[in-house]
Amino acid sequence: MPDDRTPVTVTLPEGVRCALALTYDTDMAGGYAPDGICHGRTMPQLQEYMLRLCDTAERHAVRLHFFQIGNGLEPTEDVGYLREILDRGHDVDSHTYSHVPLIGEDLELLDFELRRTNELLAERLGHTSTVLRGPGGYAHGLRGRPANQQVILDNGFRWVSCEFNLRVGFDDYLDTVANPAADVCYAYDTGLVEAPIMTLTDRSFFDSVMGIDPEGRQAWARAHGHLPLPEGWMKAPWTRADALDRWINYNLAVAKYAYDHGLLCVICWHPYSHLVHDPRNRMLPALLEWAEAREGAVVCTLRDAVAWLG
Ligand SMILES: [Zn+2]
Repeated sequence: MPDDRTPVTVTLPEGVRCALALTYDTDMAGGYAPDGICHGRTMPQLQEYMLRLCDTAERHAVRLHFFQIGNGLEPTEDVGYLREILDRGHDVDSHTYSHVPLIGEDLELLDFELRRTNELLAERLGHTSTVLRGPGGYAHGLRGRPANQQVILDNGFRWVSCEFNLRVGFDDYLDTVANPAADVCYAYDTGLVEAPIMTLTDRSFFDSVMGIDPEGRQAWARAHGHLPLPEGWMKAPWTRADALDRWINYNLAVAKYAYDHGLLCVICWHPYSHLVHDPRNRMLPALLEWAEAREGAVVCTLRDAVAWLG
């Protein structure tokens, strides 16, 4: 694997001691799907949950950043929730058209996925995507794949966020708290800039690290996946009882590490995973209250953050 990386410097704005770039991939996740297929046609209950997240953020004067799969933007789909999210000052960017990996060999398909999503963002929302989130996450990002990088650049993106390195279990997940110091942003030789996902995602945390019954999760997905959660749903039965408390503690520990070391930290969560594992919306307020109580701790979008890379 050629190492086509050049370090970039992060220059945080005056007075900012750490920046937590919070992003949400809006996927109707394959792992919760009856047929295993991930798509972008957000179910109404999840649209409502996303707007609740925006309510929470606005109470703290924070903007959220959503990465949207393009097939949920077709003219047959209701995109009123995304229009509202943009109107309320939050950001939306591309997560490909049908959740294909950015590292695939089929460059024509990749070009179609990015171009079609750009067209739909323009037609349905009057919006232009500048940062691309790669589906799935790849241990080496797009290193050694200059042709893929070029297709992404040719579709108008200067920044991509697709590297994800964290493979841990219950016994060592806390070791990843320091990861934002290691998996830092860099430029590929083509000029495309990578902003790696620097902490455990909610999907990997709840469904793998905290998972105690993978077969139970699969059975639930086959019977109930992509359907509204029932009234009174409190937690997923396939995770440890204290999974949500541990998730909150984990993210606050990451935030503290970033604060103590003056770092930019790119965070990738999913509204659907939070709907399933945090239906009462405890995580986001906990993080925003933590930041509000600390001088120079900022929760921002990834669009904000890439402007600080040079
Ligand atoms: Zn995704």
